[in-house]
Amino acid sequence: MSKKTLGIGTRCVHAGYAPGKGEPRQMPIIQSTTFKYETSEQMGRLFDLEDAGYFYTRLQNPTNDRVAARIAALEGGVAAMLTSSGQAANFFACFNICEAGGHIVSTASIYGGTFNLLAVSLRKLGIEVSFVDQDAPEAEIEKAFRPETRLVFSETVSNPGVKVLDVEKWAEIAHRHGVPLIVDNTFPTPILCRPFEWGADIVTHSTTKYMDGHGTGVGGCIVDSGNFDWNAHADKFPGLCTPDPSYHGLTYTKKFGKLAYITKATAQLMRDFGSIQSPQNAFYLNLGLQTLHLRMRRVSESALQVATFLKDHPSVQWVHYADLEGDAYHALQQKYLPDGSCGVMALAVKGGRAFAEKFMDSLGLVTIETHVADCYTCLLHPASHTHRQLSDAQLAEAGIDPDLIRLSIGLEDPEDIIADLAQALEKAQ
Ligand SMILES: *Cc1c(COP(=O)(O)O)cnc(C)c1O
Repeated sequence: MSKKTLGIGTRCVHAGYAPGKGEPRQMPIIQSTTFKYETSEQMGRLFDLEDAGYFYTRLQNPTNDRVAARIAALEGGVAAMLTSSGQAANFFACFNICEAGGHIVSTASIYGGTFNLLAVSLRKLGIEVSFVDQDAPEAEIEKAFRPETRLVFSETVSNPGVKVLDVEKWAEIAHRHGVPLIVDNTFPTPILCRPFEWGADIVTHSTTKYMDGHGTGVGGCIVDSGNFDWNAHADKFPGLCTPDPSYHGLTYTKKFGKLAYITKATAQLMRDFGSIQSPQNAFYLNLGLQTLHLRMRRVSESALQVATFLKDHPSVQWVHYADLEGDAYHALQQKYLPDGSCGVMALAVKGGRAFAEKFMDSLGLVTIETHVADCYTCLLHPASHTHRQLSDAQLAEAGIDPDLIRLSIGLEDPEDIIADLAQALEKAQ
């Protein structure tokens, strides 16, 4: 099935799985840890990466691979790998090409969990990270790079700041320094933005969010565009371009070409760190993917209606939503996300912390949840919830206003969402 000729909705339904005669119409769950072989030689060749095939689900499973192939087809990539969570996806995406002594340039306004991963846990592994404002002038961004920089990390639409990344600009800067741009595309999903079309090299997802879309299973995904020329910068990426002693001296770029990055992540990182998604969760994820194109348009349309209502409300201080005309990121949204940015917006109410708490506690249909980006409309106050481990200084560094409330629009009728927000704003007076 050609991923280039088929529309994105068709790919949501069909890519990665084409059953033959008498085979299940729905992608089946292969709920098996191991796979049977006839001879010791057959098994040995799998362990040497000489033959492709399944032997242990920690490394690969047919259900996971089909779902990963579907996501790769949606993003326009050459290969993908599912992980147990979005956190695992971002960790593996970085650690696959950046080891102790390496350095990462990351935009500052990113998901709190990723900020901790980069600023705290990777630092413990000997990897340094410099955070920069994604909208800083190029000369200032340039200053963050070092000889040991191995990658640039960012989010297409940041969580929770909903800032839109100038993907083309950041890809150019990364490539000028001989390193790939990795972007977390969780919020727009490939339905609304395909970062590879703008020069990004690797895309990550928390599939827990819109892709699953029903609050069912935690999961992640890494997709490789196959476009980054590792060999042109072989000195920076010895893990891909020089022999791997744990696979009898095999060199990933030589043996696997464009599949080198995902093959190494699977064969080495999954083998050693073991963060596979369960086939059962991959099955649920696939059900979500099959309606992703319908849901992403709907949440964006509803979010624009809600944002328009909130923007003009006398109790609302500000609303950040890139689809709104006049928003600081509207021009970038028009360029990169013309069909809508996602269903998430940020807002602040007037009247300080007390008003905000009364407003949130007065909601009925809209619930307070850590989650975001699924079928239920929900909200959260990052400074008291997801980002409460961060100091005020770190909050400022991460670009998070202490007043910011993250509102995620679900699949309910927008009139009902607006009515609930209106009555809670009224009650908080
Ligand atoms: C939720 C989220 C993550 C982390 O994903 P988990 O599946 O919760 O581990 C990473 N990036 C973004 C943008 C997210 O919203």
